[in-house]
Amino acid sequence: MCDFSKMPKLKTHLEKVRSDENVIVKVTDFESNPSIPKKFEQSPGVYGINPWFIILNKQFIEKPEASYPDDRMVGVLYHELGHVKYRKKIDPVTPDMKDDEFQAFSYSLKKCYAIAQADGDSGPLDTSTRGILNRSKNPNENPEYLKAIHRCPIENGKKVG
Ligand SMILES: [Zn+2]
Repeated sequence: MCDFSKMPKLKTHLEKVRSDENVIVKVTDFESNPSIPKKFEQSPGVYGINPWFIILNKQFIEKPEASYPDDRMVGVLYHELGHVKYRKKIDPVTPDMKDDEFQAFSYSLKKCYAIAQADGDSGPLDTSTRGILNRSKNPNENPEYLKAIHRCPIENGKKVG
């Protein structure tokens, strides 16, 4: 079981994804789960194929980090779902992965924008946009992320287009 008391928005969206999307959504402690590769131990979430799944890091949910509050974790959930949706679309035999990260960031921002429009809650959009902008300024960030982030339509902390 996972304690979602600090993540009420994430809980709502996680249940929504579980019921609306054809993907398994799980929560586990990455550090003590041997099936999570070491390089992802400090990640808030991962996705996978065969079967399609998203796993969120329980540590981030129960003991939130300052840079990953509830609003940002909603963005993370939709980032991983963005990966799944993109991978479902491309050729599984010879997948062209060059757009994978971009599609994930892009899908997440679109979802957060839709939440702001539908629920009048701009928290996930604001927080995810700020988080992505901060990552884009970090020279030690994974080059694949940086390339993808720099293609996202964000200017001055606002999503454009
Ligand atoms: Zn990603």
